Amino acid sequence: MKREHLLIVLSMLVLAFFLVRMFDSGNLATGPQRTKELIYSDFKALVASGDVVNAQLVGDSLIEGFTQDGLGYRTYIPAEDPSVVDFLRLYQIPINYVPEKSLPWYLSILINWGPFLLIFGIWMVLMRRMQGGGGGAGGGGLFSIGRSRAKKMEPDEMKVTFADVAGIEEAKDDLSETVEFLKDPAKFKKLGGRIPKGMLMSGAPGTGKTLLAKAVAGEAEVPFFSMSGSDFVEMFVGVGASRVRDMFEQGRQNAPCIIFIDEIDAVGGSRGAGMGGGNDEREQTLNQLLVEMDGFDGMEGIIVIAATNRPDVLDPALLRPGRFDRQVTIQLPDVKGREEILLIHAKKVQMADGVDMSIIARGTPGFSGADLKNLINEAALGGARKNKTELNLEDFEWARDKVLMGTERKSMAMSEKEKRNTAYHEAGHALVSALLPNSDPIHKVTIVPRGRALGMTAYLPEKDNHSFDIEFLSNRITIAMGGRAAEEIIFDEVTTGASNDIQQATNTIRNMICRWGMSKSFGPVVFGSDNQSNVLGRDIGKDREYSENTATEIDKEMRKTIKFHDDKAKELLRSNIDTLHKIVDVLMEKETIDGSKILELLGQKKSKVEPVGG
Ligand code: ADP
Ligand code: ZN
Repeated sequence: MKREHLLIVLSMLVLAFFLVRMFDSGNLATGPQRTKELIYSDFKALVASGDVVNAQLVGDSLIEGFTQDGLGYRTYIPAEDPSVVDFLRLYQIPINYVPEKSLPWYLSILINWGPFLLIFGIWMVLMRRMQGGGGGAGGGGLFSIGRSRAKKMEPDEMKVTFADVAGIEEAKDDLSETVEFLKDPAKFKKLGGRIPKGMLMSGAPGTGKTLLAKAVAGEAEVPFFSMSGSDFVEMFVGVGASRVRDMFEQGRQNAPCIIFIDEIDAVGGSRGAGMGGGNDEREQTLNQLLVEMDGFDGMEGIIVIAATNRPDVLDPALLRPGRFDRQVTIQLPDVKGREEILLIHAKKVQMADGVDMSIIARGTPGFSGADLKNLINEAALGGARKNKTELNLEDFEWARDKVLMGTERKSMAMSEKEKRNTAYHEAGHALVSALLPNSDPIHKVTIVPRGRALGMTAYLPEKDNHSFDIEFLSNRITIAMGGRAAEEIIFDEVTTGASNDIQQATNTIRNMICRWGMSKSFGPVVFGSDNQSNVLGRDIGKDREYSENTATEIDKEMRKTIKFHDDKAKELLRSNIDTLHKIVDVLMEKETIDGSKILELLGQKKSKVEPVGG
């Protein structure tokens, strides 16, 4: 964007220059209308008739001066008439010589080359557009289209070390051997060690894959080249492949080093998955990557680390021996890991004495390293707004809620009716959830609009990584239906607020039937092409390998399942309608309540909720 602005300003400048030049050539001293431009022969005739008073030779092609009636004139001398001076002398016209008005070199370049620059500039902008934004720090532009846009970081810029990475100890251990190797590949070779040259890091976004790869380079003090798989995939066939080649070339010149390819699934996704299946460009790029991977033996000191959050969609060819044959899986951090990560990032902010980060760590299951970093950042921003000089527990808890539930939009006007509707909706979710034993504890219920939602019921998963059982999933669907069910029971109508819930419930049901083989009527079958178990979400609807008939059956089964859970939610709410009203009353008054309050209203003293942060 910036670049485009610059171009526009530049074009304006060039244009302005042309305009000025045009007026300037009209001789501003006398004013354009008082100067007459003469054809050379007319000028000669004028001289001959004695009407010319004086002549000023500018350079060797222009003559300016005045005529008898006080008007200015100008004329250009044809190249084939060098005798003009003699001619003027003949008529005794006073002549004076001035050198050609010369412009500073850069202006004359601008004027002479301006139009070219302009066209070139516009072309470049168009090219960048076609490349799909580009914008990488790699300096893009036209000439580098086939070059790798890998960002290089030298060892001295790499301040990241293993000390900056927490909560993923196993992955760190896995990589310490790689660090040793990169430090001194020759020594390693002598000892006969074999090191995997390609490593695949898989894990959810924000779990620190990039960070860890950088830390390996930082520990080993070697250069770090990074590029994203999506940078390879351009609209021009062959560009991606040439970028791959170029990136490896750079790697070879800088070995030992690390080449990091983020989002490898953008190039390495198997056919029919990810971006538009089977396109030539992507395949060429992938082939080039395979060729390059096979083309070095790993003892040269190049380690290629690829990252993905969808290992399931990768082309198996990538994972063959000698390619990305070592896999490092990065999990979301557990409680202890979260505390360590929080402490790492909290070092950068002014924290009050005695803040117990373990409390925050316990209240943030499912948070990734990036989320935790964000939490600390939000706490610092919030503290700054409140003019605090140091952050205490309260600030971090506030930030956690913000990250967990989105920004509060207290100022958003909600009518009383809307507020009531939302209160019943959220209370519906919360009550159903509280009534079902095998479900995540409620963290908070709020009818303060947050993000795009009017209200929100937030849960605190007890376990960090669920392997979901049928009951849990079924309860989750019932809870999702609870909001809408409450609205229907009370107002006999539903608002659009429930669409997200239905989406969520539908997805869960679809997965249960088609992927997890949890449907009684269908039994343990997987529908769809993808028969590796896959929890990371892939569109099941795509390239399905079952008949129209089966599709109809699945639809029927889904509708039946939704109806079943909707009925169940309504039944739970109807038999606890007093509690529902009570929750709504408290919500209308307080706007945000804790999970424990729901249990209290339900008369269920034993708290399912872990006391989080007091
Ligand atoms: P990924 O590549 O897995 O999407 P990143 O490495 O880009 O994740 O993580 C983004 C940021 O989040 C990192 O720069 C770091 O500040 C923070 N972060 C993520 N994981 C960790 C971790 N395990 N320890 C410390 N910080 C982390
Ligand atoms: Zn809802």
